[in-house]
Amino acid sequence: MASVIEKADAHLKYLKHGGKLFINNQWVEAKSGKTLDVFDPATGAVIAKVAAADKEDVDDAVRAARTAFDGGKWSQLTPSVRGQLLWKIAELLERDFDAFVHLETVDNGKPLAFSRGDVTLAIDMFRYMAGWATKIRGETTPLSLGFPHLSYTTREPVGVAAQIVPWNFPLLMAVWKLAPALAAGCSVVLKSAEQTPLSAFKLAELFEEAEFPAGAVNILSGFGETAGAAMAAHPAVDKVAFTGSTEVGKMIVRAATGNLKKVTLELGGKSPVVVLPDADLDAAATGAAAGIFYNQGQVCTAGSRLYVHKTVFDKVVGAVADRANAIKVGSGLDESNDMGPLVSEEQLNRVMGFFDSGREEGARALAGAERLGNQGYFVKPTVYADTSHTMRLVREEIFGPVITAMPYDDDDLDRIAAIANDSDFGLAASVWSRDISKALKLAGKIKAGTVWVNSHNVYDAALPFGGFKQSGWGREMGEYAIQNYTEVKAVTVKL
Ligand code: NAD
Repeated sequence: MASVIEKADAHLKYLKHGGKLFINNQWVEAKSGKTLDVFDPATGAVIAKVAAADKEDVDDAVRAARTAFDGGKWSQLTPSVRGQLLWKIAELLERDFDAFVHLETVDNGKPLAFSRGDVTLAIDMFRYMAGWATKIRGETTPLSLGFPHLSYTTREPVGVAAQIVPWNFPLLMAVWKLAPALAAGCSVVLKSAEQTPLSAFKLAELFEEAEFPAGAVNILSGFGETAGAAMAAHPAVDKVAFTGSTEVGKMIVRAATGNLKKVTLELGGKSPVVVLPDADLDAAATGAAAGIFYNQGQVCTAGSRLYVHKTVFDKVVGAVADRANAIKVGSGLDESNDMGPLVSEEQLNRVMGFFDSGREEGARALAGAERLGNQGYFVKPTVYADTSHTMRLVREEIFGPVITAMPYDDDDLDRIAAIANDSDFGLAASVWSRDISKALKLAGKIKAGTVWVNSHNVYDAALPFGGFKQSGWGREMGEYAIQNYTEVKAVTVKL
């Protein structure tokens, strides 16, 4: 036991305020006194106990955000000052880079190299959105009936935004939501996922240090069914932004109907990777493996359905299996490991359930399909062949390092697209071909919010991100994110 506590101290030395809620620029315990346990997914040990917010804490946070927005100091800052404050957060993140990397890896399990990538993207997001703060503008519009009036539009911040984020990219998902909302002038109540609250606490410290006015940013840790549900239903919240499962996304929509708050949703995916026979097959195999095994497959855009032309199927899928078998799985804190544990025991059980389902449905495992060791939440990178669209493995989001490979026997792009589009989801896809014109034609036919050509899982603050079909509503990042956090007003003046 002593060793667990010593280890916890080593991790939590990075957090000045332990696991307290950040409400109205104050650090407070949950009113109920309840806490939640934080686990190291590489060992299963409890490494921290942090506040578990509930409805009363959400009420306090929303009240603070309301006051900040409705005439408080935050609402009076100029766009230029908002931009400078966001830029300051980027600088502080850069200064504390190593602490964020460490916290993210012990909390989520991902290898340090991936945590470095996440923190780098988070810094860039703040810089990108800092620029937008001074560039939010409307238009003038000639009236179609020619009335002697001048009309123009303005964009105003939507108000108090409730933001609920998942555990797969704890820091980055929080930043994707916070940065555009604050650039637009909204005030925010953000809840981290119960599995991974640590980096959000650290981020709250930076907002305090940068001297954001009280109430502009409130950061909670807590469970979804309590704190999350209270945020989604809160009558004084104007907008809710959610990233997580499609199932909970639908609950958020229902909860939001009370006051018809605006809703954006980033939900699940089952993204196809389509390899045409003329592709650079080695690059395609490497890309397909990286596209599914990155972040232990716990990525909403993970390339989980691999379609390869039958003439090159064995070669490509064999190479993906070879790459899977070569991946070194272990603690994310050990730099020599390529893949870490799954985030939680629940997620381990979920992925193991899919291994059972693969066995029952007759899929053939070319790699993995089993747990690794009996301590921590590790599974082996897994490649299945002999899969079909009737199987759970192919239809449902697994959110683990599991790829299902299927050959296709067709050269018609419409029919290939129909196979790729045979899913309830439409978040992302990748197309692999040396014939760029063919690849772009196919990209145009795939129903997904992002299509990569000859790559997979490339993200950028400037690019819109979101899904078709049951993968969500709206787009995050880029200028689109600013639109999510603003209302358009038309002003018409008689001349
Ligand atoms: P989840 O959707 O339950 O959790 C995501 C966030 O929503 C967390 O912050 C959670 O506290 C909150 N939440 C849960 N129930 C809520 C409710 N009723 N009201 C408001 N907020 C609520 O996801 P999970 O259970 O952690 O994972 C289950 C599956 O969801 C995964 O296996 C994966 O398939 C999917 N998932 C997808 C993403 C994504 O990025 N699209 C992220 C995480 C999980």
